[in-house]
Amino acid sequence: MPFAKSITIPTSIQTATKQIPFSQTSGPIYPQGKRTLLSLVKNFRKVFPNSDFKNLKILQSSEKDYGLNKLFLGVCQAKDGKHSYKVAISAHRKSQKEHYSIMSYCEVRCSCPAFHYWTAYPDVRNKNFYGRPSAWNKVRNRVKNPRLVPSICKHVFTYASYLIQFGYIAKR
Ligand SMILES: [Zn+2]
Repeated sequence: MPFAKSITIPTSIQTATKQIPFSQTSGPIYPQGKRTLLSLVKNFRKVFPNSDFKNLKILQSSEKDYGLNKLFLGVCQAKDGKHSYKVAISAHRKSQKEHYSIMSYCEVRCSCPAFHYWTAYPDVRNKNFYGRPSAWNKVRNRVKNPRLVPSICKHVFTYASYLIQFGYIAKR
């Protein structure tokens, strides 16, 4: 039976629902285990269903080769166009012959508040966090992303898209 269309949802509830979708507030906590870049990219929309990343730009990008892992460091322009955030993606491979791809296991990080409040702890928990976590990053988030879905913010999402678009990370 379809829902009655005549019921008007107050704006305050609509806004709250937008910020924290019902699917994120219920259900089991995500299982632990290191994720691939593809998995984190797929989870992005689960954690940030309304995130607007269309006008974000990558201002700088560099890479460091460590043999079996490669560190990509970028600077992503913030939505306001004035500030910028530091983003990192460290990808792993099993042998020198293997290329880095979206199927590579990885660690990620961004200096923005959204990454900090929504995904830092889940990423630390799943060993998908790049670098040494701060004391704050080890505190479990209970309000934002309470299912602890390991993911990325829109800046890391944009950077991953950039690296894939320009062939630094293979699509498959
Ligand atoms: Zn970010």
